[in-house]
Amino acid sequence: MANLPILQFEEQIVETVERNPVVVIIGETGSGKSTQLSQILHKRGYTKSGRAIAVTQPRRVAAVSVSRRVAQELGVRFGEEVGYAIRFEDRTSEKTCIKYLTDGVLLRESLSNPELNQYSVIILDEAHERSLNTDILLGLMKRLIKIRSTNLKVLITSATLDGEKVSRFFSNCPILNVPGKLFPVEIRYSSERPTSYLESSLKTAIAICANNFALSEIHVREPEGDILIFMTGQDDIEKLVKKLEERVQSLEEGSCMDAVILPLHGSLPPELQASLVRVFSPPPPNCRRFIVATNIAETSLTVDGVVYVIDSGYVKQRQYNPSTGMYSLDVVPISRVQADQRAGRAGRTRPGKCYRLYTSTVYHEDLMGATVPEIQRSSLAGTVLYLKSLDLPDIDILKFDFLDPPSTEALEDALKQLYLIDAIDENGSITSIGQTMAELPLEPSLSRTLIEANEYGCLSQALTVAAMLSAETSLLPGTSKSTDKKRKHEPSDLPDGSGWGDHIQLLQIYELWDQRNYDVEWCKDNNLQVRGMKFVRDVRKQLSQIMQKIAKGSLDVRTNGRRKESQEDYRNLRKSLCVGYANQLAERMMRHNGYRTLGFKPQLVQVHPSSVLKTDEEGMLPNYVVYHELISTTRPFMRNLCAVEMRWVMPILKKLEKLNITKLSGGSVRSEEQTKGENPSLPEKEVGVATPDDRES
Ligand code: ADP
Repeated sequence: MANLPILQFEEQIVETVERNPVVVIIGETGSGKSTQLSQILHKRGYTKSGRAIAVTQPRRVAAVSVSRRVAQELGVRFGEEVGYAIRFEDRTSEKTCIKYLTDGVLLRESLSNPELNQYSVIILDEAHERSLNTDILLGLMKRLIKIRSTNLKVLITSATLDGEKVSRFFSNCPILNVPGKLFPVEIRYSSERPTSYLESSLKTAIAICANNFALSEIHVREPEGDILIFMTGQDDIEKLVKKLEERVQSLEEGSCMDAVILPLHGSLPPELQASLVRVFSPPPPNCRRFIVATNIAETSLTVDGVVYVIDSGYVKQRQYNPSTGMYSLDVVPISRVQADQRAGRAGRTRPGKCYRLYTSTVYHEDLMGATVPEIQRSSLAGTVLYLKSLDLPDIDILKFDFLDPPSTEALEDALKQLYLIDAIDENGSITSIGQTMAELPLEPSLSRTLIEANEYGCLSQALTVAAMLSAETSLLPGTSKSTDKKRKHEPSDLPDGSGWGDHIQLLQIYELWDQRNYDVEWCKDNNLQVRGMKFVRDVRKQLSQIMQKIAKGSLDVRTNGRRKESQEDYRNLRKSLCVGYANQLAERMMRHNGYRTLGFKPQLVQVHPSSVLKTDEEGMLPNYVVYHELISTTRPFMRNLCAVEMRWVMPILKKLEKLNITKLSGGSVRSEEQTKGENPSLPEKEVGVATPDDRES
């Protein structure tokens, strides 16, 4: 800690912060920004007033890991003076004066305290990640420093960000550069693009026999030093870890040093915790660590001891297309900035080597300069609702001061979604329903469902579904590839949703667990992740408390219901889901295989294979469904479906017909002329004619 580069700049940092409301600090990853800045300012009295220092992180795992480290360095009990708050998990106390929190949690805090008076310093860390929430916070901070000019300091820190641009955004605030002590990193390019980056990574790390691959294998030939391998996601990582383990075992004993293989990614908390501890502790002697990571190791987590980097050149990116309302999880080439960051990880302790599994031409000519900010590739319904709920008189939502504004199309898409679920009225003003929705830490569709469920007397069931859907997705059945396979081939005792779909199945699973007194063995027997289910129980409890608070204690929420769900409960829940997901409706195509979405841009979609709704039995599929998400993989798929009924769908379609985007956007988006010809799609069948599939009795 003593020789971290940032500490040599302590005086300069303190003086600059003292004299300026906003300071941008650019420093190499590992220079100490995340762990030291908060401690420096704490030491210099910035928490004396009783206000705390907030440090935001775009990633949950970074908030947890860095806050633990800081508590350790300060020698205080974790969760007291230093703690963290991430969605559904708060490890802070009255005493907390340095608080690490995700950028989303800070946004939420600003709803109840718009001036964020509890903080004397707000550090927006990892701003180069350009997460959607950090981008919104940048805009909010710009307002806040005017209102709290005497008692708020804002620091924006980044490893690679275009400092000039941010400085201009904040009226030319000062930029401090903390030079890192990076050792030279030799870059080796692949002579051609490999057919499989997984195989190629494996060969580069440990090749068993001589091959025609141009790069030399590290483990056998290179001196000691850890290897950091950048893969794209959990699936890849698991595969590569397995293959590496097999290879290590097949090596002749004594032919090279020992090896430990550690996965590092953000989606499996329990595994990650164990892996994190090992990643941060020094390697055993005469042993090489292979750290197989996602882009989380690019900048969020600094792993010491890395000398070799293998860069696949790819990253998994979630991309939203506002014109189709569809998400795709694409493996895309990284940007040049990311490639440089990855290479830099090899030179922190001594000269290193970076093996790029792509050619130098690809690097120089094909890779994009910088990564597209999340705000330009996300659905903005939650963001627009949030900004509207702030009710800031001087802010026109569509002209909000963003560092990089989102497209008009994305904003229009958000307005339409919010209108359909009653969060805003036809003039674009937030409704009382919308205000309540904004208070819930859920995406708009789920918030809306809870509010409607409360009206229908099935809040308890809706809370369960919301909690199940909000849990880490890979912890539940039917959401990870490996469990998909299991579900198909092994008959399971798990309920099947009674033909109503995945939401009802999720409810039934939780209810069964509840009836079995949250039995851990039952989870194991049914392939359910125990930690995941416990997390769901916790989230459910928290959501129920938040709902109680919103309703000022007047709700009748069964937190521990032990009665069997009736068809009536299911019906009410499905009705609530139909209202909450009014913008995510689809109608069965009688003459085609699959469904057609109902909205402005109808498209043909299929039921995701992981759904409990039977896709193979003709006639079994409901005529109308709502879906939790549209995801484009090999084809467009609807994931997590719930059967709804035609009579519930009709009022929504009527509302769709009346929608006027010019009015909705307060006239600032497009003229009516431009929106002509975008009539919503109406269902194939005539209104009111019930079909056998319309299963309402
Ligand atoms: P930056 O924010 O500039 O990237 P950090 O403050 O995160 O730098 O890291 C500074 C140093 O602290 C690094 O050497 C890193 O390895 C170490 N460090 C950070 N978090 C932890 C942790 N949870 N456990 C052990 N060491 C850590």
